[in-house]
Order: sequence, then structure tokens, then C-alpha cells
Amino acid sequence: MEPRCESYDVVVVGGGHNGLVSAAYLARAGLSVLVLERLAHTGGAAVSVEPWSGQQARLSRYSYLVSLMPEQLMSDLDLDVRLASRTTASYSPWMRDRRHGGLLVERPEGEATRESFRALTGSDDEYAAWQQFYAEVADLAGVVAPTLMKPLPLERDVRSQVDARIWDDLVVHPLARTIEERFSDDLVRGVVGTDALIGTFASLDDASLIQNRCFLYHLIGNGDGEWRVPVGGMGAVTSALARAATSAGAEILTGAGVSAISPGPDGAEVAWHDGSRHRSVTARRVLSGVAPWVLGILLGEPEEAATKPQGAQLKINFLLDRLPELKSGADPAVAFAGTLHLAEGYGQLQRAYEAAAAGHVPNPMPGEVYCHSLTDPSILGDRAGSAHTLTYFGLHTPASLFEDDPDAKDLAVRRAITSLDAVLAEPIEQCVSRDADGNPCIEAKVPQDVEKDLAMPGGHIFHGDLDWPWAPNRSRLETPAQQWGVQTDHDVVLLCGSGARRGGAVSGLGGHNAAQAVLAEL
Ligand SMILES: Cc1cc2nc3c(=O)[nH]c(=O)nc-3n(C[C@H](O)[C@H](O)[C@H](O)COP(=O)(O)OP(=O)(O)OC[C@H]3O[C@@H](n4cnc5c(N)ncnc54)[C@H](O)[C@@H]3O)c2cc1C
Repeated sequence: MEPRCESYDVVVVGGGHNGLVSAAYLARAGLSVLVLERLAHTGGAAVSVEPWSGQQARLSRYSYLVSLMPEQLMSDLDLDVRLASRTTASYSPWMRDRRHGGLLVERPEGEATRESFRALTGSDDEYAAWQQFYAEVADLAGVVAPTLMKPLPLERDVRSQVDARIWDDLVVHPLARTIEERFSDDLVRGVVGTDALIGTFASLDDASLIQNRCFLYHLIGNGDGEWRVPVGGMGAVTSALARAATSAGAEILTGAGVSAISPGPDGAEVAWHDGSRHRSVTARRVLSGVAPWVLGILLGEPEEAATKPQGAQLKINFLLDRLPELKSGADPAVAFAGTLHLAEGYGQLQRAYEAAAAGHVPNPMPGEVYCHSLTDPSILGDRAGSAHTLTYFGLHTPASLFEDDPDAKDLAVRRAITSLDAVLAEPIEQCVSRDADGNPCIEAKVPQDVEKDLAMPGGHIFHGDLDWPWAPNRSRLETPAQQWGVQTDHDVVLLCGSGARRGGAVSGLGGHNAAQAVLAEL
């Protein structure tokens, strides 16, 4: 496909959801915008697909829950997207003294949550600690969330508005210290810790605090940190964003893998191959929706293995004929509606990290599953109400484990299924649907698969480790790009994707913030 013009105000490289957000804001402001996407469709990691022949299940293949997309952004762009609340926040099966049980956290939390903590720990103390901790986290979230669509605040401006204890506990000290000081039960400690490890390969004790930053992002969305189900799947979010962009006049070319960006003083040239010939256009600004590491290559910088991000997650999608029963006897429709934690006790998480860091697939494998179709059956077409989807997100499976070992992926999948089966009254395989050829409806993605599919370097789900959502006190915040946290080494090239400061996850924040910087400059 040919671009309509030779020159644009803005070219967006990468049609992930963030690139589409930028395009929508900029086109609405009257700028000419071209989006170039290497795949045959937009959305990046925010897409729905029908992976199994003969089955209508339309799965969110990679990302599946939304928390960080501000309501303000959705209303600015008139997005026709509904995010549905889950009635269960989490369920964590346990076995103690040969007794099976489960720690249930309802949404909103009620008497069953309190009872559940009491049944696990024998008193109300741990639940009181839980309530206290998350109330303090909510105070911090309430300060940070309103800043996310504004120029970066300085760290001291945020710090001055929150209680010193929660600041120290989340921003100054490794999360392990906080968790160990505030909680005493191993399972409760583990459940708290998981939010720090989704998409982040670290010990909870890591001095770099990447786990603390990951934790914060999981708790600040819209001030309440609720993770909601996009009705219709992630593809519905991307479709709405693509509509917002094109209806405002943005042009989107798919099958356009950009091979070079050549910046000059007043603009840049962007080159790609469309399958039949080389093409190029010029732009006053280029927004990069691809990972910063990939951008470096497009800018002609040397490809440095040492700085390449490394993802660490195993993703498995299942289609089930029915939900399995649990050993604890809990109603599967309650237990699977939220995030169901598997082998994620505090000690298990640390041992799994150590095993993976030493080059071994963890055993048991920590991870979590959730069922989209309990909250939104619409993705199942004719099978809505009978079949179910199940998504597994495994922790501590860094890309390095799969680098030279062709059997490691099968081993990791088997161990993930073993962790799931350990809490079920029947093996999950008895519930798995079959495709038109009689094969089980299971698909698994290790970081290498994610990199191959989506060009996320190392399969890192955030394009690289997350930054604090504020600027260090001594930052240079002179240009609009610096003020919005979207700068690169080139004035005419800005980050608009997950790799921008505050850009991680399905939030649109990278896209929004880059668009604001461009509008302030042009
Ligand atoms: C398995 C998995 C599970 C996740 N779960 C969640 C979740 O539940 N909730 C959540 O909030 N986040 C989740 N995430 C993270 C989230 O999906 C990403 O952070 C987010 O989608 C990134 O969006 P983006 O638009 O910045 O980039 P991307 O989605 O990576 O889009 C970048 C686009 O650029 C294109 N591209 C790359 N190179 C080129 C090139 N040379 N030329 C042209 N185009 C190019 C790619 O094809 C892609 O379409 C998950 C991610 C993964 C992988």
C-alpha cells in the first residue's frame, strides 16, 4: 500500500495500542499523521485472535486485563470500550495439615474475605495488616494517578503529598523488607509480592527496586488499581483506538516494517519495505511505538546484546469445555473469576527466582490463571455460557532458560500444568476442548515467541524495565519531550510506546504523553 503523501507532520512507527493513541490525539488536533505497522494488523500485544480451527473462541492472546488506561483518555477519544469488573479479586488455593483451602479476596472485600484470612491464619491480625497496607497504597495511588496524563511531577512533589511510611516502604526499600515487616503468613506475603513480579524478573529483595516499580504500576491505575476485563477482549480496545485514529484522519499502513529512521535538524526520513518495494516519507516528528532497544537499531546504532531487555513470562491460553473442580471445594465460578494464584507462596517465589537465575525451569512453577469468559462470555460466540477460556501467566521463566534448550519450553508448560493440577480435583487436560483436528486447544508463548510475534526485544512485555512514574529531582525538564518523559537523543524523535516513562502496560499513556509533547512543540 502506498502512503497518500510524501511528507507528514508526524509518522508513528509501530501500530501498537500506544501508537494508535498518539495518532488519534494528533489527528484530532489537525496534524497529518501516518502510522506504519510491520504486521498485517494493528494492536501489538493488545489483540484478540481465534487460534483454534473449528472453535469460535476469540482470545486476548497476550495482554488480557486493563487497569492503567485512564478514564480521561477513554473519554477524550470517545472510545466505545467497556471494562467489566471481576467479582473476585483473587483466590489462592492452599494445603496445610493435609487440609485444602483457599484464600479468597472478593471485590469489593466483604465478610467472606475476612473469614478466609481467619481460616488461613487463625486470627484477624493478618487481614488487619492487609487492610492497613492497601489503604496506604491507595493513598499513594490517589496522588500518582492524577499526574499520569500531565507533565512529569518531580519525585519530591509526589513524596511531599504522601505519608512517609508508605513512601519508604514502596519507593525506598526493597519490597521484601516491607512485606516481611507487615505480614507474617507465607501465602499472604506471596500474594502481595506477585504484583511486583508480573513481567519483571527479580527477587523481591532486589536492590535495583525494579520489583517495587512493577508493584506500583499494578496498584495505581485510575487511583484504585482495579484490573478489569475488556468486554469483547483486547481486540475491542485496539479496534476502538484504530477507529478513533482513522475517523480523525490518521492514515494507517500495515505490512510496513520500518527499516530506518534518519533524523535531521527539522525532521526525519522514515524508510520501509512494503513487500514489493522500498518506500520512504519525511515527517516533522517521528514517534516510536517500538521498544527503545529496537528504535536504536532503526536509528543505525550498534545492536548491543548487553542492553537488550529480557522478558520472563510464560503465557498459556486454554479453551475448556467446562471449568474444573478444585480440591478445596470452592465454587470454580468464584475461584476462577479473579486471579487464581498457583505456587506463589513467598518462599516458593524466592526459590523459583533462584532456580531460574541459576538456569533451571522452576519446580514448582509459580504463576496465575484467570478466566475471561466468566466476566465476559461474549468472546465465545455460540459456546458462550458452556465453554470457558483460561489464561495462565507464569513468573520467573526468563528468556535465557529457552535460549539453547529446545526442550525447556515443553518442560515449562508441563510444570505450569502440574502447578495447576496440584489444586484441581481433576487434571485440567480432562476439561480442555479440542480443535477441528482433534488437538487440545492449548497454546503457549515463551519470551522468544513474544519477540518473534511482536518484535518486543527479549519478549519483555513492557519493552524494558519500568521507570518510576515521576522524574528524579535533578532531572533536566527543558523540552516538552523531557517534560512528558518521551525524549530520545534526537529532538525530532520521541517515544510513544511502552518504553516511555509511564508507558508500560495497556494504558495508552505513552501515546498520550508523546502526543502532548508534539502538540507543545509544533
Ligand atoms: C504475554 C503478555 C501479557 C501481558 N498482559 C498484560 C495485561 O494483562 N495488562 C496490561 O496492561 N499489559 C499487559 N502486557 C503488557 C502490554 O501488553 C504492553 O506493555 C503493551 O501492549 C505495549 O503496547 P505498545 O503499543 O507500547 O507496544 P506494542 O504492543 O509492542 O506495539 C508495538 C508495535 O510496533 C510494531 N513494530 C515493531 N517493530 C516495527 C517496525 N520496525 N516497523 C513497524 N512496526 C513495528 C509491532 O508489530 C507492534 O504492533 C502483556 C504483554 C504480554 C506480551
